[in-house]
Amino acid sequence: MLLEVQNISKKYIRNGNEFFAVDNINLTVDKGEFVAVCGHSGSGKSTLFNLISGLLKPDDGQIIFNNVPISDYDMSKYRNGEIGYVIQGQSVLNGFTVIENICLPYYLSGNKSDICEKALNLLKEVGLEQYADVYPDQLSGGEMRRVAIARALINNPKLIIADEPTSNLDRKNAVAVMELLKKISNRGISVIISTHDSLYNDYADRFVIMDEGKLHNAEKHN
Ligand code: ADP
Repeated sequence: MLLEVQNISKKYIRNGNEFFAVDNINLTVDKGEFVAVCGHSGSGKSTLFNLISGLLKPDDGQIIFNNVPISDYDMSKYRNGEIGYVIQGQSVLNGFTVIENICLPYYLSGNKSDICEKALNLLKEVGLEQYADVYPDQLSGGEMRRVAIARALINNPKLIIADEPTSNLDRKNAVAVMELLKKISNRGISVIISTHDSLYNDYADRFVIMDEGKLHNAEKHN
């Protein structure tokens, strides 16, 4: 088991009212497993992902990663090395070229040696090697998502978390992103995505439904 989310809850206060955005959730993810979290907007998916990635602290419960509570990790090492988080929307930085974007987490984790070859290999893996030196504003939305996924892979994470990776993409680009995530999970890296897109059924090993902060198991359609 790579990830164990144990009874976690997170409450927010809005207009003076307290409510649970994540309400006593349990979720486990195996090594190499591809899990899709489906749910309408506002059901708590991003809050759950922010808890798993250590950006938010739960009010209750704990998250175990590779048999160690994430509260025991050096947070910057956990976020920048153990996991790769592809946040919602456009997260590639416009002032840097594609290859510089991919290298950023590597340099931010204190490495100084040249890793161009590894970054180029990742770019090849996401099918965009011809765009190494272009700036993101010359890419399509789908290509930018694939760059963000390559960037999330640069420090060899054990888990990729992708929040709505296919949102605002046409079907062809959405399929390319899902195929890429499937390929990553086939390499033994666990993948968790949130989605509204029914494409998850063709790619994810398992899916769960999030509704008003609660998580329900669901069956895949055949
Ligand atoms: P999803 O990713 O499924 O759209 P979110 O996790 O973003 O859901 O949000 C869950 C609920 O929590 C929503 O009702 C949202 O408006 C609310 N929410 C999110 N962040 C905050 C915050 N910082 N303070 C108060 N409420 C929040």
